[in-house]
Amino acid sequence: MNWKLETLAVQAGYTPENGGPRTVPITQSTTYKYDDAQSVADLFDLKRAGFFYTRLANPTVDCFEKKIAALEGGVMAVATSSGQSASALSILNIARCGDHVVAVSSLYGGTVSLFTNTFKKLGIEFTFVLPEATPEEIEKAIRPNTKAIFAEMLANPALVVLDVEKMAAVAHKHGLPLIVDNTFPTPYLCRPFDFGADIVVHSTTKYLDGHAVTLGGIVVEKGGFDWANGKFPEMVEPDPSYHGTAYMRDFPAAPYSVKLRVQWIRDLGNPMQPFNAFLNMMGTETLAVRMDRHCSNAQAMAEFLEKHPKVGWVNYPGLKSSPQHELAQKYLPRGCSGVITFGVKGGSKAGEKVMNSLKLAAICVHVADLRTCVLHPASMTHRQLSDEELVAAGVSPDLIRLSVGLEHIDDLKADFDQALNA
Ligand SMILES: *Cc1c(COP(=O)(O)O)cnc(C)c1O
Repeated sequence: MNWKLETLAVQAGYTPENGGPRTVPITQSTTYKYDDAQSVADLFDLKRAGFFYTRLANPTVDCFEKKIAALEGGVMAVATSSGQSASALSILNIARCGDHVVAVSSLYGGTVSLFTNTFKKLGIEFTFVLPEATPEEIEKAIRPNTKAIFAEMLANPALVVLDVEKMAAVAHKHGLPLIVDNTFPTPYLCRPFDFGADIVVHSTTKYLDGHAVTLGGIVVEKGGFDWANGKFPEMVEPDPSYHGTAYMRDFPAAPYSVKLRVQWIRDLGNPMQPFNAFLNMMGTETLAVRMDRHCSNAQAMAEFLEKHPKVGWVNYPGLKSSPQHELAQKYLPRGCSGVITFGVKGGSKAGEKVMNSLKLAAICVHVADLRTCVLHPASMTHRQLSDEELVAAGVSPDLIRLSVGLEHIDDLKADFDQALNA
């Protein structure tokens, strides 16, 4: 059956057996018992599917992976300890020392730091292109050793909407996969695979969990990318670290995911934990109803702030005044997610005063959960970035990031009105 996203969010990933528990059980066990040694040997050789050690796979985590793969429309997903590890592994899986990656500059601060500082130490170099770059400009950034293009679907916090089709066309022309961080839209608002992306990553810490209770990340593979095009020998040639497994030959349906799990998660040891998978799974079950409310509340708040005399500017792709509006209508037709950025007249200092005067909305280094919160990226999440990097990431000094929660819209408006007038 071709179930709709609302249905998949609730039901996909776990189907109880006759008499089995209705909700996904938490398998809080590091290991699994077998009756004979051969069974375990076969599991180690990847000759049969099953569980043998929770660093590689766990039944609860497996259900969450299947749920997200179903929602994104991918062939397989691998859950990780955090969004950061998902982004890092999505690159490490196909790029090594001496390689190069092209990334769209409007990115989450932690991703900028990972790409520009940490990957540099590992010998993987990044070139950043502006989101509005033409295909020709993006192509100029591509080198013979380029292994991927990386971008955010709805950038945190610049709220730039990715023109996925444009990016995918350039990537595929050069035999490269397009990796898209789909954290802000979630698969409920946009499925990047439908527009040509090849790999999707998430910080499940945000809307998928939705309640600010657990960290998590996930890497999803669409399937069908031609890893045998000459650019990715590690996907084709036997892996000496896994008894000669050749991922394309032995796992043609999901070679990228299998490699990421048995090579990278095995060796770096950053899988999602079973209890966290349970929490992420519960959160995702209500994704559709929550996202509808996040979107409608954010749309109403953006329109309210835009009209407020104390507000200098508002950025939300759902506003007609937004330069992102056209792309948003194409890629985010159900709504533009729950995050707004704005600046208060009077700049950073005045903005700080408004933040301190809020009663319902809290100052939190978080985003995308059910409680409304605000943050000042230039002095918080993005404070390690240079002024140049701040501009490239779309963060002005006075920018306040507002994550609109599920409270009643009248109460939210009243809270911001009193704080702006304070
Ligand atoms: C938060 C976030 C990350 C990092 O995720 P963590 O779970 O905090 O490690 C990556 N990308 C985006 C877009 C994010 O918002």
